[in-house]
Amino acid sequence: MKVLFTSPEIYPLAKTGGLADVAGALPPALYRVGADIRLLMPAYPGIDAMARAKPVANLGDPFGRGEATVLEGRLPQSDITLWLVDCPALFHRDGGPYQDGAGRDWPDNDLRFALLGWAAARLSRRDSPLSWKPRILHAHDWQTGLAPAYLRAWGGPRPGLVFTIHNMAYQGLFAADLVPRLNLPWSLHTMAGFEFWGRISYLKAGLAFSDRLTTVSPTYAKEIQTPAYGFGMEGLLSYRAQDLSGILNGADYTVWDPATDPHLAHRYGPDQAAQGKAVNKAALQAELGLPADPSAPLCVVISRLNDQKGMDLLLAVMPALLEQGAQLALLGTGEHSIESALQALARARPDQVAVRIGYSEELAHRLQAGGDMLLMPSRFEPCGLTQIYALRYGTLPVVSFTGGLADTVVDASYETLLHGTATGFVFDQCTPSAFQWCFERAIGMYRHPERWDSVRATAMRQRFGWEEAAGRYLDLYRSLMPNGEAGKAGSRPQV
Ligand code: ADP
Repeated sequence: MKVLFTSPEIYPLAKTGGLADVAGALPPALYRVGADIRLLMPAYPGIDAMARAKPVANLGDPFGRGEATVLEGRLPQSDITLWLVDCPALFHRDGGPYQDGAGRDWPDNDLRFALLGWAAARLSRRDSPLSWKPRILHAHDWQTGLAPAYLRAWGGPRPGLVFTIHNMAYQGLFAADLVPRLNLPWSLHTMAGFEFWGRISYLKAGLAFSDRLTTVSPTYAKEIQTPAYGFGMEGLLSYRAQDLSGILNGADYTVWDPATDPHLAHRYGPDQAAQGKAVNKAALQAELGLPADPSAPLCVVISRLNDQKGMDLLLAVMPALLEQGAQLALLGTGEHSIESALQALARARPDQVAVRIGYSEELAHRLQAGGDMLLMPSRFEPCGLTQIYALRYGTLPVVSFTGGLADTVVDASYETLLHGTATGFVFDQCTPSAFQWCFERAIGMYRHPERWDSVRATAMRQRFGWEEAAGRYLDLYRSLMPNGEAGKAGSRPQV
């Protein structure tokens, strides 16, 4: 099974969130179950050296921004071939994959990610300059959404197309006058194509022109077919419900395991949880300048700071949280107003609140290990990996009942406690009072160490490995092969 897997970010080469974790862990899992998988992403600065990549093909200059080259290297710590789309004018710049250092979107993201989609499409066709040709092209999020559109526009034999939605809120919307500049035909700029309220949507291109659609949890797959979560594309998604499935993400336990984590003050497994967590908590309090109080419930947050993640709810309940004697340790970046409000809180209450604005992989690991509970009051959450890591680290998640949070955390109710299945605390309505009531329940239980230890032990035993998901993706790929289900579905892959 030859699969070309394309994503705008892949851990450890470039990461802004969970997509990178998925793109770094799913391909090795697919490789282990027998897929011949190659990765494709942009050559952001420094990545070619990390991947030891060398030029293997010239793709020409599709958008007048200079020649694009394919560099070939390896995904670090794996045998997986990585192809980088190198175009210095579009990708060689300081800053993040999507934004400059001040948090402003790159003004030419339209062309940058058109090039990624275009390159994926080029390398998927029989006339690709590379000899290896995929049977499946698996693309992720709006940044790769034009790949299926180009293949539709060009016609002819093509691989099976799988498109995975990691977040419906990011749609890659640009002015329609881009269509001819991208060498795409106006005939695809329709309601059944990539047109979205007069503009072009790269996400919709992926949704409209792929054979199969997936998203990252079963609950989110249902939610996005409704107006509350579909961001205007619920009609298209429910029309394509037969082709849409929710496959729960896994966690990469080679990276996220407290028993082997190189970033921790003290490593621990489920059998040494109480002591291991106590040592890491003390180290974290010292690192962040919080009082060394073993009895204060230490709540941690590792998050993009925005409305989706419910950071306004967090700010609203902070007085109640502090009243309960809890400490808050937060790591994140995002909207400036939320960053400033959190920083002001940390300045006002240094005895209970520590805030680090920025991005730190190492600190994220230490927060997972040192925290007692992880707060994640998301308004919507396609899957969420942070709470899955928290379970493994014995940091009990306090989460809203949505998307992947609903699929991964079992609320500590009378019944689940009785049956020994509780792993965290879940609230239904995304309101400050529901969130407050939920963490007060958590703090209440924290004061009863025996009960707390037993829920923590259950949480740490949960397994969300990638093996199961990899098997399901492989089944999906197989269904697109000529003798699979694909025959039923009309025009289908021929490469
Ligand atoms: P999303 O992809 O919506 O941001 P997820 O929970 O799926 O949310 O994944 C978030 C990933 O990004 C996790 O690996 C988390 O540890 C990481 N992360 C988020 N914010 C930061 C940060 N400021 N510093 C380091 N890692 C972060």
